[in-house]
Amino acid sequence: MLYSRQTFLVAGLSRSGIAASEFLLSRGARVYCFDDVEEGSVAASAEALRARGCVIVHKAELEERAKECDVLVLSPGIPVDHPLSVSFRHAGKRVIGESELGALALRCPVVAVTGTNGKTTTVTMIDGIFRAAGMKSVACGNIGRPVTSCVSELGEDGVAVAEISSFQLETLSSLRPHVAVVLNVTEDHLNRHYNMENYIYLKSRILKNSTESEYAVLNYDDPVVRGFAAKTKAKTVWFSLREPVEGGYLSEGCFCYLGEKLFPVSELPLDGEHNAANALAAVCAAKIMGVGTETIVSALKTFRGVAHRLQRIGELGGVTFIDDSKATNVDSAVKAVKSVKGESVLLVGGKDKGYSYEPLFDAVKTSGVVHCVIYGENAFRILNAALKKGYTSVTLCRPFDVAVRVAFLTARPGQNLLLSPASASFDAFRNYEERGERFKELLALLSAEGSARAGDAKAREDEAAE
Ligand code: ADP
Repeated sequence: MLYSRQTFLVAGLSRSGIAASEFLLSRGARVYCFDDVEEGSVAASAEALRARGCVIVHKAELEERAKECDVLVLSPGIPVDHPLSVSFRHAGKRVIGESELGALALRCPVVAVTGTNGKTTTVTMIDGIFRAAGMKSVACGNIGRPVTSCVSELGEDGVAVAEISSFQLETLSSLRPHVAVVLNVTEDHLNRHYNMENYIYLKSRILKNSTESEYAVLNYDDPVVRGFAAKTKAKTVWFSLREPVEGGYLSEGCFCYLGEKLFPVSELPLDGEHNAANALAAVCAAKIMGVGTETIVSALKTFRGVAHRLQRIGELGGVTFIDDSKATNVDSAVKAVKSVKGESVLLVGGKDKGYSYEPLFDAVKTSGVVHCVIYGENAFRILNAALKKGYTSVTLCRPFDVAVRVAFLTARPGQNLLLSPASASFDAFRNYEERGERFKELLALLSAEGSARAGDAKAREDEAAE
């Protein structure tokens, strides 16, 4: 792409928009920046970009200024059918994303990971294995570090381990990963992608440029993902929890790869079958990239997990608090209730994404969940699903803070308090991280109140004894 000859309009000044603007400036492009929000931290970012040479476009002048631009760089937060994007397409101009700019500029091999759930966990595993093998690896993309921001660090001898979401796939067309991993495809983001066909199509786009020299690591157990093999030219390497496939699989309780036994599943320090599947996908990617067995085994055995994914954050009065705030869809919450050991009180709810919650209650009914505290904007939709499935051990309690207190009062010593919301967080929080952090704060608050109460009781006892 001839950057210096073109004018780019970067829409959305989030982390990736800022990175895209900086990248384009560094390549000599003219950069216009726009965001719907013109206050707070966005205003500060806009000012910093203006100081570096960007033209800041205000809402009132957007239509006119957009005409001066050749390419629209759309933030993953803005859908491709947004009027701004539509107007660029109508004018025959390109609409791309920050990760497309990254894909065009990267000079090193890319291992790309997509799927509805498990991307961050798997990317972190693969990156950890590569680093343990002494490779110059950078985890990037949807995981938090924009692809464009690591182009120079990676050079030609690095390896980019890129987490790619369906939002990014809407505006990504040049990526040709050496290894493309597809973990699973279940219902999610239908409020943005409209229907499953479109969502599945978007996920399959990760393989669209693959040739016979590339690899597709595919989940044999997921019928949708299994179907991708027939549509790609890449060499397929399977992973499966159930079948001894050509690739990564389980045998006699051990992780195996193409006939070689690696280590017992019980030694992976993460709960849940879904994490065993993530580990198998990571094994396949690492083996394809030439990493030795010993390095893979030691990196996976010492893997520490990722925050807000089935993370034990503490204990109070014999109740274990588990933060799975990243469970923002039904399938991930189903996996949580299936994999958490012992009895749990489940906290569920938040912002609706347009899917059915009934599968969650199918899972709840056969799991260790003894009670559900339902909160958030979608509380009545979830309650409805519970009742339809004949599950009545529920409390409806709208604000998050109150719900956590009620759930804590409901849980008995020895049980877990599992926050696995099956919903987005945007009804009450900026993101799932903030929701998880609030959960942690409430644990600290409840703990402090408990100590204060114990202190008061002791003072009263002492007073009575005087
Ligand atoms: P992503 O980056 O795709 O959102 P994460 O690794 O952040 O995935 O995990 C998101 C949620 O999904 C967490 O609640 C986690 O426990 C759950 N999860 C992780 N791996 C899987 C998987 N393979 N299948 C289903 N759920 C998963």
